Amino acid sequence: MSEMRLLVIGESSGRPLAGGATSCYLVEYDGAKILLDIGSGALSVLERAVHFDEIDDIFISHFHSDHVADAGPAVYHRLISTQLGLVNRPLVFHALEEGQLACAPYSVWRRTGLESGDDAGPFHVSYLAACHPVPALAMKVTAGGRTLVYTGDGSLTGELAGFCSGADILIAECSFYPGRGNAASAGHMNAGDVAALASKARPGLLVVSHLPVYGDRTEILDFIKNRYDGKVMLASTLLEVIV
Ligand SMILES: [Zn+2]
Repeated sequence: MSEMRLLVIGESSGRPLAGGATSCYLVEYDGAKILLDIGSGALSVLERAVHFDEIDDIFISHFHSDHVADAGPAVYHRLISTQLGLVNRPLVFHALEEGQLACAPYSVWRRTGLESGDDAGPFHVSYLAACHPVPALAMKVTAGGRTLVYTGDGSLTGELAGFCSGADILIAECSFYPGRGNAASAGHMNAGDVAALASKARPGLLVVSHLPVYGDRTEILDFIKNRYDGKVMLASTLLEVIV
């Protein structure tokens, strides 16, 4: 049986750190590749790891810039590659809204199949509506019996914990340090929320991501490790996980 590979392209919330990117995750199975979100700086980091022409399907959790900012440059990438004769397929954006994603013939928009889920090559992607100030999705990617769940952005809810259970890999957003985040920042999790989520969902591996761009991120890891006894790591640029 083939393995599922996660490559973290961008792990920052809000804006990228130098040389890094905001939310973007490459998932690979049996040679097929998809992206979950494509935040700012993502294309630049991707170029260090894979050829972007190998990726046809991009799943967008929501329309905040730290998740979708590089969609426009991705279309330009496809335009250039098409005109050079390197590819002859449009990029496919799977999203709740069209936004400015569709640019024929270089990209198309497919409305997210909230009930049915969506298929892309060997991947099946299903969704949960997230608790966030704008319409947003958590995503569950399955291929070859492996499961990866990405929370996208959203507050901790019982539904989210149920959705995350059974994941081989859980990418959980952690926008705030322990004790930080309040009613004004509703729609995100802090380190305590992530520890609680992991304790309920018990993933094979917890990857803590969508991290603050200030402070010492290892505080988040230490805090979670003190409250959750499963396998956990902090996301970082080009972190690779294989299950
Ligand atoms: Zn975000």
